[in-house]
This record gives sequence, C-alpha cells and structure tokens, in this order.
Amino acid sequence: MNIPLERVDKNRWRIPQNYMNGMNVPGMVYADDVLIEQIRNDNSLKQVANVATLPGVVGHSLAMPDIHWGYGFPVGGVAATDMEQGVVSPGGIGFDINCGVRLIATELVRDQVKGQVDKLADELFRTLPSGVGGSGMRKLDQHEIREVMVQGAAWAVAQGYGLEEDLEATEENGCLAGANPDAVSKQAVQRGMVQLGSLGSGNHFCEVQVVDHIYDSEAAKVLGIGQVNQVVITIHCGSRGFGHQIAEDYIKLAQQKQQDWGFELVDRQLACLPLQSREGKDYLSAMACGANFAWANRQLLMHGVRQAFASVFGRRARPKEMPLVYDVCHNIAKIEEYVVDGEKKRVCVHRKGATRAFPPHHPAIPEKYRAVGQPVLIPGDMGRYSFVLAGAEGSMEQSFGSCCHGAGRQKSRTAAKKAITSKDLMAQLSARGVTVRVHSKGLLSEEAPQAYKDAQNVVNVVHDAGLAKLVARLKPIIVVKG
Ligand code: 5GP
Ligand code: MN
Ligand code: MN
Repeated sequence: MNIPLERVDKNRWRIPQNYMNGMNVPGMVYADDVLIEQIRNDNSLKQVANVATLPGVVGHSLAMPDIHWGYGFPVGGVAATDMEQGVVSPGGIGFDINCGVRLIATELVRDQVKGQVDKLADELFRTLPSGVGGSGMRKLDQHEIREVMVQGAAWAVAQGYGLEEDLEATEENGCLAGANPDAVSKQAVQRGMVQLGSLGSGNHFCEVQVVDHIYDSEAAKVLGIGQVNQVVITIHCGSRGFGHQIAEDYIKLAQQKQQDWGFELVDRQLACLPLQSREGKDYLSAMACGANFAWANRQLLMHGVRQAFASVFGRRARPKEMPLVYDVCHNIAKIEEYVVDGEKKRVCVHRKGATRAFPPHHPAIPEKYRAVGQPVLIPGDMGRYSFVLAGAEGSMEQSFGSCCHGAGRQKSRTAAKKAITSKDLMAQLSARGVTVRVHSKGLLSEEAPQAYKDAQNVVNVVHDAGLAKLVARLKPIIVVKG
C-alpha cells in the first residue's frame, strides 16, 4: 500500500491528515532514508494513519524508527488522547502489558568472565524458568497475587527478592498507581498465580553483555556503566499470561461496546474505551495490575541473575555489587501532562513498543540520574548490539516524552524462520563469540539478528532527532532465551 509521506527533515516524515477520511491528526514517522524503505514494506504506516482516527487523539500519531506491524497499533507507536474526550485502546498498549527492560551493572570485566562463560550460561538457564506457558520461580496464592497487583516490585523486595534501592531505579518505583485487583478476571489471576518469576518464550531473554563503546562518558559514569569491557546484564520480559489475559478480556469488552458508544472504527483491532467511562477506568486499573505484576516479575528474575552470578563468581558479584541501573516499560499507557497546541493538557500516552525518554531535570527521574536524563534501554538483537541512551529535551516537545524501544522487526516470524535454521544460527552466533542457551530451539530463528533492523540505525535516528542521547553500546556474550 502506498502511503503518502511528506518529508519534514532528515529524520521525520509526515502522513498528511487528509490522507484518509476520519484522521483527527497527522501522522509523524521517525526514520532515515534507509529505515523508511524498510518501513514502507509492511502495513505499519497504514496503522499509523488508523491510530490518527481514534476519538480524542491529539498532536500526532507517532511512529518510532523501530516501527513494525502490530495488533491494531503498530509496534513502535505512540499516541496521546485527551483525558476528557479521548479513549484508551488496549491494542495501543499491547498484549504484553509492561513488557520492559532492566539493566544490571557489575564490577566484573570481560576477562574475568571469559573462562566461566559456559558455567555462567548453564547457571542462568537453570535459575531463570523459561518456555511457553512455563511456571515461575514463585507460586502465589489468591491473597499474594492481589498484593503483587497492588504493590508491584516492592512486594518482591519485601519478600527478599532484591534490594530496597532497586525500587528507586525502576520506572514509577516499580508500582503504577490506581491498580484495582477487582478489575482483573479470575482467568487472568489463575494464569498469573503460577507464572511470577519466569521469562516465557521467544523474544524475551536474559543477556550478559559487555560495554563495547561509550558515546558519553560523563553520562555513562553516572549510570554506573562507564568502563569499556564492563560486564552488564539485560533482562527483557513482561507480564506473561497474566497481562495477556487482561488485554484479551478488555479488547473483547471494548469490541462488544463500540456501537453503544457510537464509534465507527477503521479497524476492529483499534477497539477502545472512553477514558471517562466505567469500562475505560476499569481497564486502566487492570492494566496497572498487569504492569505491577511485570515489575515484580522482572524483580524476581533479577534476583535469579544475582544468585547465578554469586554462585559462579562468589564475593566478586554480591548483590550490592550488581546494582540495577534502570528498569523501563515499553508497553504501557500513562497519564501525563504536555503542552499541545499551546495549551497544557492531561493526556493518556499510549506507548506500544515505545520507551519513556524524559529529559534531564524531570522530577520523575531518580535523583542520582537527574542531571543526565532518564535511562533509555534499547535491546537490538542477540548477535550485534544493544544500546543505552538518556532521554532528551526533544521528547517533551515532539513525542510525548517517548522514543523507540528496540531495533524492530524487519522480517515476520515466518519469513525469519525461512531465512535461517536454528542450527545455522547457533553456529553463526558461536562464531561471533555469543553463547546461547534456549528453551524452545525451534523458535530461535524467529529472533535471529537477520529478523531485525540494524539497531544502530534506529538509535542514530532518535539521537539525531533529539528524543534521546546515545550513552553506550553493549555487545552480547551470553543469551538465555525462552
Ligand atoms: P519486543 O518487545 O518488541 O518483542 O522486542 C523489543 C526489541 O528487542 C526488538 O525490537 C529487538 O530489537 C530486541 N530483541 C529481540 N530479541 C533480542 C535478543 O535476543 N537480544 C537482544 N539484545 N535484543 C533482542
Ligand atoms: Mn513482551
Ligand atoms: Mn518487549
């Protein structure tokens, strides 16, 4: 499908508001010349235009350079809706509510890990439960899961999974306000009770990496990742079947109600709930429960990582020496305030495969990072690299405090599988010095580096556009996949 794009500058393309009937705002796509051609190859630009038709959407329907096709909204999409007249669309948050990334620093350097790579990989694989529908490190009873829904990461810390200071380094301190367990279905609860502290499968991972290049040494130092060859760990995971069930429940409810509310959507998958309706408020309360479950989940997984490191490196890797650098969510809706058309407005920012990227001095940033900006964690792929950035001023003016969340898919899962077998991929990774442990071997090639865009191109765009600033690049040495 040919979507008209007007070039705004080197890194931005506008989809004019008159492209399609019913668009309330124009679209804005962040990409350079290379990425825009890749983006044209799937239907995600049509989805950017579709999102612009949502009731109460303001500013632009935004697409980050990692954009690709998703359910209703593109992955890599950002849209803000007016709190009074607007809607929340569960497809604009995604099925994996509060899927996110956390980065852990260590005092180890590459050479200290070299001789222990296989042992460490085995230990991580044993400690972090993985696999489709697999059960987690901690079973919960009915009472406990309600506490997790309301308290998030703080529940996990109180139970001995981690340190008090981990909370300060987590977006929202690991607890989104407004959670109400009564808005969550029994079915979601059943799924969640057995899955806390599990990676799941496919795109979720735990990766041991080394700092490979530092772009901004001052900022890197403040974040505690200032040394080239320093060993760090990334965890990418979300709310498992619990969040998925919440999304399913509310998408179904929204679809049943569209006519009552008089919504005529261009795509059924955009089903949405007025923010001021009972149902809209219930969704946000349930979504907060999902988000809090995800933060508790990543907190348990980080505890597992610290245990695995301690068992291999003893006193050289005690929890205190493995601080949490930061934890960001990239599938969430947040109520925030922005100046839109010269007017201060409270809006519901949908970030669907998009990361918050608040600039220096924003009060929501941990005090120790305030001069630098909010850490932005961008996984790339399991073969090449991942990135750490810090939020920049441009995000507040242009993108509702947001930027990209990854490299973004270039090939569908099916196409990726056709491009390379898991066995060949394992050999390629091994030749690059990446040790892999994977639960579902058949799924590995779906996540091959070849399936993703070049993350370097993606982060260069958000850096040049002023949404976030490059801080450091990380290279993988061990990948543990579900
Ligand atoms: P998503 O949340 O959209 O599933 O994934 C976020 C990003 O993670 C993807 O766009 C991709 O760039 C990245 N990614 C997927 N698998 C891996 C992996 O095994 N290692 C790293 N470092 N990044 C990955
Ligand atoms: Mn996810
Ligand atoms: Mn994710």
